[in-house]
Amino acid sequence: MKRKKLKKEERENIYNKYNGRCAYCGSKIEYKDMQIDHVVPLRIGGKDEISNMLPSCRSCNHYKATLDIEGFRKYLSKIHDRLTRDSVAYRVAERFGIVEHKTDKVKFYFEICNDDGKIKTWKINDVQKLTPVEITKMSHCVGLDYKKPYERQGKKIL
Ligand SMILES: [Zn+2]
Repeated sequence: MKRKKLKKEERENIYNKYNGRCAYCGSKIEYKDMQIDHVVPLRIGGKDEISNMLPSCRSCNHYKATLDIEGFRKYLSKIHDRLTRDSVAYRVAERFGIVEHKTDKVKFYFEICNDDGKIKTWKINDVQKLTPVEITKMSHCVGLDYKKPYERQGKKIL
């Protein structure tokens, strides 16, 4: 399938959708390293249009591959099971408390941020339900980079 050739301005608009961060994991990405992901993959009928495109880091783009959003979420939510099954090193690390399994629940960065980079909904009760990773993502949404998000869990951070 022939893909739409993006103009520089269109590419920049996609990059800026999430303040230069991956729409899936929230990692900061350099403009030159940005990959453009088709939210609904072309292979399963997604449109080759800007509205179906999100900025992605190389790793998320690679992992998502031809999955749609829910397929990607499901894939990620089974990583812990796969590691436990396949990696002796991981099982040892978990037993010694070097790594800790926190959740299989996956929330994508774009679900926490709005297109304009502002927080989608903001209620103190919501923050109390967020994991430290989500709080870190949320602080990115408003352009802040907290070094110790854990300390702020459950507190108003804005
Ligand atoms: Zn990513």
